[in-house]
Amino acid sequence: MSDQTREPLDDDEVRWGLIYTHNRANANTAELEETAATLVALADLLIERGLLDRAELEATTAEAAKRVRQRFKDRGMTLTRREFTSSKYDVPPEETPQIDCAARIHLCKGVCCKLRVALSSEDVREGVLDWDVGDPYALRKRDDGYCCHMNADKGCTAYEQRPMPCRGFDCRDDARIWLDFEARIPNPAVNESTWPLGVSSGNPGADMDSDDDTTKA
Ligand code: SF4
Ligand code: SF4
Repeated sequence: MSDQTREPLDDDEVRWGLIYTHNRANANTAELEETAATLVALADLLIERGLLDRAELEATTAEAAKRVRQRFKDRGMTLTRREFTSSKYDVPPEETPQIDCAARIHLCKGVCCKLRVALSSEDVREGVLDWDVGDPYALRKRDDGYCCHMNADKGCTAYEQRPMPCRGFDCRDDARIWLDFEARIPNPAVNESTWPLGVSSGNPGADMDSDDDTTKA
């Protein structure tokens, strides 16, 4: 029987693979642009002739876009990357939410580290925060739903390099986590293994996909 073991890919092979992928992506983008232009022209013509109402079309399009995004997510086809105008290292610590996490973690179960986090180019280039090639560029989660950098005893093992959404996250008004932050009453759903699925933050504008309640704002 022949030996099927293959040598690891060398840099040139990876480079050519990426060039091929980018060429395909460019070709798809060009096709998409043409299709979009045709659709917009069609809608303009129908509106001009009084056969379509613009406001109705925009509302229906927004609804359809939500459904399409959800379908992509269900198939694991999300491509998440968030860009910020400044480096995460430029955020002064005193401007980040001051929360007594150590005294609360037995209540909240540290579920903020179960939320989906989109990495930035800065994070990806730095190469410290882990993400799956099959789910670019979201912080990798373990099977228990927690971020792969979360350690039950030590907390965040990538604290110095943690991404921007982790630095700015404020759980105090997040209904997914607290029914009443001041009174220290957590949302009972934090004890469910499926959290945050099906739990609403009560803040529709807070998420990176705007209709996604499983992300860290
Ligand atoms: S949910 Fe809030 S209190 Fe709990 S660990 Fe996260 S930031 Fe701290
Ligand atoms: S990087 Fe750190 S703070 Fe952010 S989700 Fe992971 S463990 Fe939590």
